Amino acid sequence: METYIQVTYLLSAGLFIFSLKWMNDPKTARKGVYAGVAAMAIGILGTVGLLAGFESINWAWMAVAAVLGVVVGVPLSWVPLTAVPQRTALSHAFGGLAAGLVGTAKFYLWLGSEPEMLTSFRVFAIVAEIILGYLTFTGSLLAAGKLQEVSWIPQRPLTYKGQNAMNLGLLGIAVLCGIAVVTNPAQFAFLFPVIIALALTFGVLLIIPIGGADMPTVIALLNSYAGLSAVAMGFVLDNKVLITAGALDGSSGLILAIIMCRAMNRSFTNVLFGAFGQVQAQGVAGEQKLVKQETPEGAALLMEQANTVVIVPGYGMAVAQAQHRVRELYDQLTKRGIDVRFAIHPVAGRMPGHMNVLLAETEIPYDHLVEMDEINPDLPQADVVLVIGANDVVNPAARHDKSSPIFGMPIIDADKAHMCFAIKRSMNPGFAGIDNELYTADHTYMRFGDAKSVVGELVKNLSGGAGH
Ligand code: NAP
Repeated sequence: METYIQVTYLLSAGLFIFSLKWMNDPKTARKGVYAGVAAMAIGILGTVGLLAGFESINWAWMAVAAVLGVVVGVPLSWVPLTAVPQRTALSHAFGGLAAGLVGTAKFYLWLGSEPEMLTSFRVFAIVAEIILGYLTFTGSLLAAGKLQEVSWIPQRPLTYKGQNAMNLGLLGIAVLCGIAVVTNPAQFAFLFPVIIALALTFGVLLIIPIGGADMPTVIALLNSYAGLSAVAMGFVLDNKVLITAGALDGSSGLILAIIMCRAMNRSFTNVLFGAFGQVQAQGVAGEQKLVKQETPEGAALLMEQANTVVIVPGYGMAVAQAQHRVRELYDQLTKRGIDVRFAIHPVAGRMPGHMNVLLAETEIPYDHLVEMDEINPDLPQADVVLVIGANDVVNPAARHDKSSPIFGMPIIDADKAHMCFAIKRSMNPGFAGIDNELYTADHTYMRFGDAKSVVGELVKNLSGGAGH
């Protein structure tokens, strides 16, 4: 039996590694998902085998837990793509809670019946597990609430004087209590619930000063905390697959958070303590620049005459679910021999790869989705740039306005093309809450409306008209 368990765990850990590797490329991503599912299933089978060795196992309870997991998990998989960040946060909350509960159960079980099992190393791992697990639980729940824009949870960052000192102080007290428990578990067992309460509170306090806007990055960080708590749980339970999977989860979450910070030109400290998204004091209203509007007929005519069209998709395309209309537009234009490419900003939308996933769904050839750094040098030669529901990622203020909250963030140089046509519903700002001078530039024409219906009108005009 022991060999069976070790083989299943080895297989599971190997598949998890391949799963991550395959998910790195759109061509192999599907295989990566299947490998991840298989890895989890094999891991569970191994654990069932492990549990079968204990006579006291109550299979009815195990079945109840499994059914509950399915009942909660399946509807979670039905959420729309735009809600994936908050769905992911909920998964982390459950992961953190599970790790916290397992750590708590193990501590009290061993304390009551096998105190010799509570070696310093194991108690250290349990303390790390419960601090990370419980703070991930409350932090992720709050993060999910902010992203879902739950009415009673403030979206804006809540800050007050001495906030960081207080938060770090609280975490420091939890760590000190943990050290005491490690040194003498029986004598300091009364501190165990204190550590749990402090970790739960710290999770909430960690998220309060962060605006809804920075939540996706914070969720990637919480992902890495959940992974680390799973690693600690692996050491507590002496379970190698948990250690491997937790380490993969923890490191990939951290790498993702770093990639997102870089793409927004922000540092970790700025995301965690910068209170980004607070209402900015508006400057004195200067001269109002005029916005030029264009009809879909006019825009279709302009695009028909172009040799190169670059489409910049953003969050609005995701909200409108306009990707299939965009595919039709792509077909209409390429049919006329026009070179059509998509400029993909690394943080367009609300999660990394958001635009790639939506466009891949419509089977637009992947080599037509071009990364920002690669397409920017070509934009001054582009005849038309079509911005569909993107805002911050094409805001030229990021290049020159030192007072702008997005100053320094790399952008797609849509303003450098010969002509820009932008689709959005109003002049409302995007994620960063700031105006965009691209929309009032001399060579920019706007069409206000839902991205799906405006792109639909463009397609209608093109499909009705003659080719080149
Ligand atoms: P954005 O700056 O949030 O702008 C999206 C625009 O889409 C809005 O101005 C909105 O204007 C428009 N819009 C919304 N619904 C629409 C609809 N149904 N039809 C047409 N237009 C619609 O989006 P972005 O340019 O994609 O930039 C992403 C932002 O998210 C960046 O600031 C980035 O730093 C941040 N962020 C991204 C990630 C990530 O991983 N991708 C993570 C964290 C933060 P109207 O309301 O006027 O229509």
